[in-house]
Amino acid sequence: MEKDVFCKIIDGEIPAHVVYEDNDVIAILDISQVTKGHTLVISKKHYDTFLAVPNDVMHKVMDVAQKIGQTMIAGLHAKGVNILTNCYEAAGQTVPHFHVHVIPRYENGDGFILEMKNNADGINLPALCNSIKTNL
Ligand code: AMP
Repeated sequence: MEKDVFCKIIDGEIPAHVVYEDNDVIAILDISQVTKGHTLVISKKHYDTFLAVPNDVMHKVMDVAQKIGQTMIAGLHAKGVNILTNCYEAAGQTVPHFHVHVIPRYENGDGFILEMKNNADGINLPALCNSIKTNL
């Protein structure tokens, strides 16, 4: 199976701007820089998505994401940060290797758009709640 782009970066086969690295986690500048400082925190061991990653690895990645988010506020003077991970193509995942986006936010129109519309009309919330709860 062909290596994904993050496995190639981790193995030193292609270059990246590395902002943090330890035995389990690497953080690099996203090539697209949706906003200035946009960083990806990546587990070195390959897992396809957040949904497949063991708890200890998830915690290590999120610890680094939190630290980088704090640094963006303190050091890059960001006014906010979006921290997110896309799982599967339907959710916008383009690289099938678990990673967390840390996206500093500066002002309206800074390049990142996340729209969450209210689509609750017509949804039976108690029934929906139950169907999620019973499958946990
Ligand atoms: P996602 O769409 O959530 O899977 O995010 C994948 C991200 O990887 C995108 O934001 C890309 O811009 C980024 N990306 C792809 N190739 C590279 C690369 N060689 N170096 C840094 N970031 C990359």
